[in-house]
Amino acid sequence: MTTLRNLPSVEQILQTEAAAYLIAQFGRPLTLDAIRFVLDDTRARFKSERTTALPDLDLILTQTESTLTAWTKPTLLPVINASGVILHTNLGRAPLSEAAIRAMDVVTRGYSSLEFDLESGKRGSRLIHAESLLQKLTGAEAALVVNNCASAVLLVLSALAKKKRVVIARSQLVEIGGGFRIPDVMIQSGAKLVEVGTTNKVRLSDYKSAAKEPTALIMRVHRSNFKIIGFTEEPELKDIVGAAHLAGIPVMDDLGSGALYDTARYGLAHEPTVQESMQAGADIVCFSGDKLLGGPQAGIIIGKADLIAKIKKHPLARAVRADKACLAGLSATLLHYLKDEAEREIPIVRMMFLTVKQVRGRAEAWVEELGQGSVVEGESTVGGGSLPGESMPTFLLSLKVKSAEKFMHALRRNNPPIIARTENDKVLFDPRTVLPEQEGALLVGLKNILKS
Ligand SMILES: *Cc1c(COP(=O)(O)O)cnc(C)c1O
Repeated sequence: MTTLRNLPSVEQILQTEAAAYLIAQFGRPLTLDAIRFVLDDTRARFKSERTTALPDLDLILTQTESTLTAWTKPTLLPVINASGVILHTNLGRAPLSEAAIRAMDVVTRGYSSLEFDLESGKRGSRLIHAESLLQKLTGAEAALVVNNCASAVLLVLSALAKKKRVVIARSQLVEIGGGFRIPDVMIQSGAKLVEVGTTNKVRLSDYKSAAKEPTALIMRVHRSNFKIIGFTEEPELKDIVGAAHLAGIPVMDDLGSGALYDTARYGLAHEPTVQESMQAGADIVCFSGDKLLGGPQAGIIIGKADLIAKIKKHPLARAVRADKACLAGLSATLLHYLKDEAEREIPIVRMMFLTVKQVRGRAEAWVEELGQGSVVEGESTVGGGSLPGESMPTFLLSLKVKSAEKFMHALRRNNPPIIARTENDKVLFDPRTVLPEQEGALLVGLKNILKS
């Protein structure tokens, strides 16, 4: 009769060559954990009589290896984005430029002058690193980089408006995505929310009457992920600033995307730029590093020197500070703008800049390489909370498959995973968002899946 006594012991298992190989690969403590886990599981199943057969040594080793593989498998993996959404928040937003990647590599590989003044040999500040580039690019007096734009908004409100009134148009009390709601952030910061106007209309007179009472800030939030159409009204930023400044109140503009260039150049709608907000006289402007700017995740705050100084001193500034990799990557990205080479160097700007003819050429080459599928017209979108409802013409590789759902699943299981989109029983691939260096891997993956 088979009893649990027939089960190999941990010691016996460790004697094998296969176990030595697992230890070399995964380390001794984790391998031991996995062996015990497999043995415990086997005993439990045997006792509950779900099985009467005991696994032999080989099977136990195989199960140990699968356990170790499952335990150590990374959850954050690079993927190929063939969805045609340029800034896909779920896919990590902006891929970085070569220079940004190199800058992040060198500062993280060793020590750096993060908070060390090389001139004096004394302690320096991490806050200086992207500041002069931001000043040059935007004309702002001062700048500060934090973890992301959501924390930038929270920090600004906490530092400048705690327990004080902040005036905002009702039409701008938005949820940006991922549960980031402007009214909630206001509560969190301790600011007192004062809504003016209606859902669709706000007038200058609304701001003027609200400004009669002592107010810390007038806040404008860019509606970056939806549009209000029909009968709408909103004063221009420069007029809001004019009225606010007459009452001695500073204006904060939460731009979100924060393009440094005019998206209308790429046949898209015009997205308000950082420079425009500065020219309109905004005292504080916040925007993301990884939306239309095309850099690493960051929140950028620019504006008047006295306000920025106050923000830098607030305790939350320490809690939401940017790390050295971010500061290095962001600086390298900003430098592309300063050197007027963004269209050549920054991947997401390059993607927007691609002509339909170029995209079509790539889609045609894919069809030829695969020996199947067709090239169809379609649309790419910007996404990532930028330019809602806007798209640009593109050409797609279209594959007719038996089950689009099963095919998409197989694509996601590919190494690297491929993210496409479907239309009825067709699976569509947009060359615009596929990085040129990923094209080979995409085609190999597609060939394998089509064969199987
Ligand atoms: C996207 C967005 C944010 C949040 O930016 P993150 O960098 O994702 O934190 C804040 N405000 C606006 C208007 C946005 O569009």
